[in-house]
Amino acid sequence: MPIDTKANLTCPQCGTVQEADMPIDSCQFFYECVSCRAVLRPKEGDCCVFCSYADKKCPSMKST
Ligand SMILES: [Zn+2]
Repeated sequence: MPIDTKANLTCPQCGTVQEADMPIDSCQFFYECVSCRAVLRPKEGDCCVFCSYADKKCPSMKST
């Protein structure tokens, strides 16, 4: 079963929702918004931008 690595990332600056690929074995710390070019960073306590701004947690959080 393939791991779902697509997530919808919502930019906190401009509200644009963009589909992004999540890395399976690492955490992505920075993500540049396709619309406003803001560089997103994880909120405090989150491991990656997907945990903070996407509709899913990153795959590395699910696997042990
Ligand atoms: Zn943006």
